[in-house]
Amino acid sequence: MIAYFVMELGLEDNMPIYSGGLGTLAGDTLFSYADMDIPAVCVTLLYKRGYNLQKITPHGMQLDFDALWDYKRYLRKLDLEVEIYFGDKKQKVACWEYWVRSKSDVRVLFLDADIEGNDPEIRRLNSKLYFDDGLYRLRQEILLGIGGYRVLKALGYAIHIYHMNESHSAFLVVELLRELGSLEEVRKRCVFTTHTPVPAGHDRFPVEMVKEELKVYDHIDWDKETEEGNINLSLLASKYSGKVNAVSHRHKFVTAGIFPELAEGIEYVTNGVYHKRWVHEEIQDLFNEYMPGWDENPILLQRAYEIPSELLLRKHNRIKSELVNLVNKQTDASFSDDVLTIGVARRVTPYKRNDLILRDVDRLVHIAESFGEIQIVFAGKAHPRDGLGKEMIKNIFEKIKLIRGKTKAVKVAFLENYGIDMARLLIAGCDVWLNNPKRPYEACGTSGMKAGMNGVLNFSTWDGWWLEGGIEGVNGWGIGPKPSWQDMTESKDEEDLEDLYGKLAYVIIPTFYRHRDEWVRLMKNSIATIGPYFNTHRMVSEYISKVYKIGLR
Ligand SMILES: *Cc1c(COP(=O)(O)O)cnc(C)c1O
Repeated sequence: MIAYFVMELGLEDNMPIYSGGLGTLAGDTLFSYADMDIPAVCVTLLYKRGYNLQKITPHGMQLDFDALWDYKRYLRKLDLEVEIYFGDKKQKVACWEYWVRSKSDVRVLFLDADIEGNDPEIRRLNSKLYFDDGLYRLRQEILLGIGGYRVLKALGYAIHIYHMNESHSAFLVVELLRELGSLEEVRKRCVFTTHTPVPAGHDRFPVEMVKEELKVYDHIDWDKETEEGNINLSLLASKYSGKVNAVSHRHKFVTAGIFPELAEGIEYVTNGVYHKRWVHEEIQDLFNEYMPGWDENPILLQRAYEIPSELLLRKHNRIKSELVNLVNKQTDASFSDDVLTIGVARRVTPYKRNDLILRDVDRLVHIAESFGEIQIVFAGKAHPRDGLGKEMIKNIFEKIKLIRGKTKAVKVAFLENYGIDMARLLIAGCDVWLNNPKRPYEACGTSGMKAGMNGVLNFSTWDGWWLEGGIEGVNGWGIGPKPSWQDMTESKDEEDLEDLYGKLAYVIIPTFYRHRDEWVRLMKNSIATIGPYFNTHRMVSEYISKVYKIGLR
């Protein structure tokens, strides 16, 4: 039995307990476990006010609201309580369950310390996801790691592998060390997946704070785990894990740069997406007809060439039309069905450079007026405390106004409150999926995989998964120079922007409007090259063969 620990989880649109790719990946992983009959149980936290509901004023200011949800409708409370300590405060933890059902049923356990009798400070931990750093975050992570271990014990699970998906659950090793007695034994049971490509992204807490909060658990010598006065959870998780893995081939080298002491043993398993969730229903109909069995065995997607071109285009255009309707209902951008549509949707934060394509408005307008019309649809939330991310949303809104005063050849819209359901339509309904993060900061990325298996062409920086999956001019296009796996130089905005505008004007727009046969060929290439590999069925198989195998010894 595998215990899969995650801080955020994207299972359903109505369960707003995820912030982005990490959460949707966790959801996709559980769907594949269940389909593939892998014995697994997932542990996460219940956030009663969810992540963040986004509204945007006409001037582009993001307003942040609680994402309240009816968790009692989705989850069932178990008749069970365990005890854990925060400092010397003994607190109770309750647990709710949810089942992902398929060939085997995967249980998801939601920890809840917001119960009668607990300290108000502890009860607040189940309020919001990624609400605060510092003590609040440390306590959430104690709740996840130690509370999760306790709940699994209380329910009688015999766990062979504890999978820490990101380091948020690393305090779990404290309990394992008590139970198993030595580092060597703990390492036979734990694996750690790191997703974070920048040193500053790794959770760390002052050692004194950790010692105080965990003082009851005194069998671990925190001074030995300390780095410059801090406990770094990624280092803690790595040290106690028998296997550490990065999330793309490229990211393996990035991780080796951040943690040179681990470099030797780092494995990589490239992320995937759960094809049955992310291939749009319209396209699924085609796949069922021309590649029956693709849902159980996505390798069959390599046969996409057998789909008649006109059918593929017709289905794609139906989804696109649905997207255009949504844009026109929610904004005054006046999109049309027959214009080249470019999608840009993900967390809004500086390294993602969400607004890059709008950097030089005059150039963009000139391109569209000379080569062919375009429409661009944006979506994505900035973290409530990410001031620069919020500035970027505001900038996009300002550019929308500016462009509207100049031309009708470029139309731009921003859709509020990006989430799973919107992503399913938005990603499949665009013609081109644009992703231009700054190299080398994209650990993997998954939205481009979702696009690719719908026949939507990727236009992306050569980083993360795209360095592995992208073939220039065959299943999409790259932006900026293509680095070697080991090359960690940062991309330069001007250079990337030049390449972005150049390919848009001379390759993408002309192919779309004047070489439709070639465009459909690229769509099929995209399905056939991206579908068979970048799915969570393949990913889960690789976890078993490369990572979980430590549990067999
Ligand atoms: C897939 C997905 C993401 C991840 O997008 P990236 O472009 O890979 O960062 C984020 N949010 C939602 C809702 C998604 O479905």
